[in-house]
Amino acid sequence: MKRIPSQDTTVYMVGGGIAALAGAYHLINDAGVSGENIHIVEQDAVVGGACDGSGNPEHGYMIRGGRMHEAHYVCYWDMLSHIPSYDDPNVSVKDESFAFSQRYVSNAKARLLKSGEKIDTTRLGLSLRDKINLLQLVLTTEHRLANKKIEDWFSTAFFSTTFWFLWTSMFAFQRWSSLAEMRRYLRRFIHLVEGLGYLGGIMRTRYNQYHSVIVPLQRYLQQNGVRFQLQTQVIDIDFEFQADKKTATALHLLHSNGLSSKVALGSNDVVFITNGSMTDNTSQGAWTTAPVLKDKSSSASWMLWQRIARKNKAFGNPDVFSDHIELQKWYSFTVTLADPTFHDHIHAFSGNIDGTGGLVTMVDSNWLLSIVIAHQPHFPDQPESVKIFWGYGLYPDRKGNYVQKTMSACSGAEILQELWYHLKIQEIMQPITDCGKIMCIPTAMPFIDSAFMPRIAGDRPDVVPAGASNFAFIGQFAELPDECAFTVEYSVRSAQTAVYELFETHKVIPPIYNSLHRPGILIKAMQVINR
Ligand SMILES: Cc1cc2nc3c(=O)[nH]c(=O)nc-3n(C[C@H](O)[C@H](O)[C@H](O)COP(=O)(O)OP(=O)(O)OC[C@H]3O[C@@H](n4cnc5c(N)ncnc54)[C@H](O)[C@@H]3O)c2cc1C
Repeated sequence: MKRIPSQDTTVYMVGGGIAALAGAYHLINDAGVSGENIHIVEQDAVVGGACDGSGNPEHGYMIRGGRMHEAHYVCYWDMLSHIPSYDDPNVSVKDESFAFSQRYVSNAKARLLKSGEKIDTTRLGLSLRDKINLLQLVLTTEHRLANKKIEDWFSTAFFSTTFWFLWTSMFAFQRWSSLAEMRRYLRRFIHLVEGLGYLGGIMRTRYNQYHSVIVPLQRYLQQNGVRFQLQTQVIDIDFEFQADKKTATALHLLHSNGLSSKVALGSNDVVFITNGSMTDNTSQGAWTTAPVLKDKSSSASWMLWQRIARKNKAFGNPDVFSDHIELQKWYSFTVTLADPTFHDHIHAFSGNIDGTGGLVTMVDSNWLLSIVIAHQPHFPDQPESVKIFWGYGLYPDRKGNYVQKTMSACSGAEILQELWYHLKIQEIMQPITDCGKIMCIPTAMPFIDSAFMPRIAGDRPDVVPAGASNFAFIGQFAELPDECAFTVEYSVRSAQTAVYELFETHKVIPPIYNSLHRPGILIKAMQVINR
């Protein structure tokens, strides 16, 4: 029996990422839960989780990452079509983002570089064997791929193809990532294969996603009375297990002042649990210091999931996703410049104005460096004289080609030395560095590729596990058939699923966009793969 909320139905959200915010949105609008009865409990001082955006022109801006979106993020865009945008209450976040993406069309003209020169990305360099392997992967069933890695399926030569460089840098897949997840991406995004070489079909938001998506969502929820309890960790959850019923009975909280408390859950109360987080325990370095890599022992999300997973098999297997930091981690960096030289150079070199080029990946970089120049300003308060860009390295344990240190051991200044070397702009950037007009904040992300770890069915719990009477799992590590994990769409869909499965909404969730059944799209994808 699905729930019909009463006046005192209270819902607790463990975590305040986009999944939890989406859950609150659907609880209010589709299930009729009163906003005042929704509590979002977040360990950080701000909500948004992976969708962050902080800093200022004086000390440097910071984003752990920026999102590529596409038109068929159906749950995400549908929700955002009801949320007023950051700057204009009369325009929704969805309308703003679609208009913005039509104005600044993604069309990368320097997608891959080697020795500082552009590589032709119209030819993907796949052998007949690679093409057959790709096709077989698309056509095989997921359960046959349990625990398999991408490198178990493809030849060594595949990992030197243009296809692979485009793929690995766009989605952050590694050779050792889950083959099942790669299959999902191939099937789910086959309509984007035509534009793979130039990031065709990719959509962006006007500012970084903290300001363009999270702040508007938070404002909306606050206006509806939702309560935000920040700097508070949920460290454990009590459950009562019966043969056919599982019930959450209490939450254990740890507050920023070190005090703990317990929230007893009544018969009308419900809890949504964000289990695991790809950005938990990230740490920042600075211009002169490298970030310190943390492990899971101090991570609220991974430790909570570990604690509750030990209570019931239906709660999944977090160790699969959290215990191989050496395989999961990569590092990003955010650069703030009080000077236009870098952006002007990339514009002239690539032919892309800011915000249209997307990723630029240096395929001969030991760290596999990529950078993204977003449309400026990328922050609402960013002055015109200040420019920013973001970058990342997929192999932080390798020594650089120029800087003889691993990326993980490098300060912000050292990372830029390596970057200027690959872009062949050491001379033009030196005077700007000497004047102190650059800041670079490196970030270590120990769990960033955790959702891509090889897995078997059951490693991620179902959104609503069998017999769960008053709780659900949301976010990257709750199982949703067919959807792709490293996306905001996945998190929003998981939360919408949780609401619709636990509460009577009289609505159905829109299906995942399936371009596999569209012959025109398949033919185009095959033509591109055959080039
Ligand atoms: C570098 C980078 C690039 C990305 N690129 C893209 C992209 O191109 N396209 C795309 O669609 N997506 C992209 N993503 C992925 C997307 O941003 C995430 O998948 C999504 O935001 C995850 O949302 P979430 O709410 O599920 O989890 P999270 O964002 O991880 O949020 C979980 C929140 O819960 C909190 N929390 C967890 N457990 C507890 C606890 N026990 N107590 C208190 N608080 C807790 C955490 O602090 C966190 O704030 C990218 C992410 C990153 C980091």
